[in-house]
Amino acid sequence: DARIARIAAAIRAIPNFPKPGILFQDITTLLLDTRAFRDTIDLFVERYKDKDISVVAGIEARGFIFGPPVALAIGAKFVPLRKPNKLPGEVISEEYSLEYGKDKMEMHVGAVQAGERALVIDDLIATGGTLCAAISLLERVAVHVVECACVIELPELKGRERLGDKPLFVLVDAA
Ligand code: IMP
Repeated sequence: DARIARIAAAIRAIPNFPKPGILFQDITTLLLDTRAFRDTIDLFVERYKDKDISVVAGIEARGFIFGPPVALAIGAKFVPLRKPNKLPGEVISEEYSLEYGKDKMEMHVGAVQAGERALVIDDLIATGGTLCAAISLLERVAVHVVECACVIELPELKGRERLGDKPLFVLVDAA
């Protein structure tokens, strides 16, 4: 697919960010390329438009860039999954481990209803810990996570294995 090649070419890798030894995949250059950005959204919409999905859950922060246009196009609502203490209403939260230390993800109570079908979107899967936390949060309120979708996968970190049976759709592999 020529679109995939265009998307891959529009993503920039920046060495030693946010710390030495990390090669950071930067999607802001993809957003500058109107054709590649549109292709990204189109590929997700083509995959999810007929899957009876009523919720697109986007992970802070870059899931907030890709999630809403997909949600609008497939006729689903958008639910932000946020870092702790950002959401003003009552929340449910899920703690998860990072390479060093812990983090938390929060969702507004009442944003989703039991039995709804959700798609989880983020820009990138590395170890898979973040997507696992999102899946747990939604499953705790009896939402069915149909699939997770990311623009980029770092296959060496084996995040896909951590997701177990949960399907993962990615557009581009990176080193
Ligand atoms: P994981 O939990 O190890 O899979 O890490 C994925 C999370 O970290 C996602 O929310 C990503 O946005 C972020 N992340 C990790 N590495 C990168 C990167 O190279 N570029 C952009 N985001 C990254």
